[in-house]
Amino acid sequence: MANMFEKLWDRFSSLLFPDLTRCISCGRELKEGYLCEECEKEFYLNDEHRCYWCSRPTVSIDDNLCEQCKQSGNNYELCIAPLLYKGTVHDLVHKFKYGDRRDLGTFFVDFMVKEYEKLPEPDFIIPVPIWSGKFKDRIYSTAHELGEILSKRVGVEYREDLVEKIRDTGTQTALKGEERQLNVKGSFRAVSTKEFKDKKILIIDDVYTTGATVNELAKVLKGKKASAVYVLTAAIATGKR
Ligand SMILES: [Zn+2]
Ligand SMILES: [Zn+2]
Repeated sequence: MANMFEKLWDRFSSLLFPDLTRCISCGRELKEGYLCEECEKEFYLNDEHRCYWCSRPTVSIDDNLCEQCKQSGNNYELCIAPLLYKGTVHDLVHKFKYGDRRDLGTFFVDFMVKEYEKLPEPDFIIPVPIWSGKFKDRIYSTAHELGEILSKRVGVEYREDLVEKIRDTGTQTALKGEERQLNVKGSFRAVSTKEFKDKKILIIDDVYTTGATVNELAKVLKGKKASAVYVLTAAIATGKR
């Protein structure tokens, strides 16, 4: 009997305090903190010189805009991402997305909140919607998870009901910049026609890769007369779009 209680307690406490003394990335035991020394070494903040528009690290310190923003611009006013999508951050995002690691949402939001303070206060926060058919595979949406946690932290209304994804765009991983743009074109629909008018909206996603998705979504919101669209993601890809 005691044994059974012990087992139950173990399960219960592991739910309450998941891996409290382990590295959140590799699982190695830790005395304190979140990451072991090895994983910390490969954990990169996006705090060097970055593009004024999309926040991607720019190549030269003389450049205030990355090549992509110079060439094609964006449909949003400003995008900020606190982490670089490589090394440990890449692994963590992968675990958050496909593994059973919802607890990582709070970890990412801790970094996002600091960047949020640099943005004008939005009227509401929305996640990049995912095609509902995807829920069957992944069970939950990382953008939704981050958006919901962030909204509670900053006290701004969270609306996941205003935009929907109307078709499956598959995985964009193998597609290049222009192909991604074409792939997402027309894939979002604003459910409400009047809720966006003269509103400042903050879009939340896990990773900013080429920007094709958030640009398409921002275009839809601007089409519904949103006055400004901002984007906040946990991480941003470092390579070219
Ligand atoms: Zn580690
Ligand atoms: Zn840029």
